[in-house]
Amino acid sequence: MAINFTRAEFVLSAASPNQFVRDGLHQLAFAGRSNVGKSSVINRLVNRKNFARVGASPGKTTQINYFRIDNKLYLVDLPGYGYARVSKAERDRWGRLMENYFQSAGLISLGVLIVDSRHKPTADDVTMHNFFVQTGCPVVIVANKLDKLKKSEIEPNLARIRETLELRPDEIVVPFSAERGDGKEQLLGLLRKFCE
Ligand code: GDP
Repeated sequence: MAINFTRAEFVLSAASPNQFVRDGLHQLAFAGRSNVGKSSVINRLVNRKNFARVGASPGKTTQINYFRIDNKLYLVDLPGYGYARVSKAERDRWGRLMENYFQSAGLISLGVLIVDSRHKPTADDVTMHNFFVQTGCPVVIVANKLDKLKKSEIEPNLARIRETLELRPDEIVVPFSAERGDGKEQLLGLLRKFCE
């Protein structure tokens, strides 16, 4: 039976490693800089408007949110990064939490890194991609806000994303628009393939 992504429920928010979920279900970890549209992508996948919180005080939440999908896997919403107006204390807390999550052996089945299709990936995006690669898990890149691009910009921008993140040929970039829905079926297909 295909995994039904509309059967989604919030489980918990973890602010420290003792709250990490370790029950053996697959974990699809979603990462991206603040405001890239991570909540909007998640909402699009589960087909709900206000499931993950959109535009919730960028950078203010240093916690990992777990959503259970169809009782079969977790969609793990990692806290956004790269928001300029964040205190050093908060940045440090973010770093420790990420380090702990990425080092907790075998938690991540698949990394989903969301980048902005309009821009060259930032240094933080490159770092986050490397975090995933170092765990040995497969990574899918979601190039969001595709609706903001002219047709002629799409190919060169996708190529720039591949180049900047130094993607291997087997790593897939999914052109996506959380706003319009482009890429939804391709991404769901990839997520299902990794879990079934
Ligand atoms: P998050 O901080 O990464 O969770 O980002 P949000 O989901 O809160 O989105 C940040 C802003 O980008 C909001 O104003 C969204 O409406 C907007 N946004 C998200 N995805 C898209 C998209 O695909 N296209 C466009 N045009 N705007 C988007």
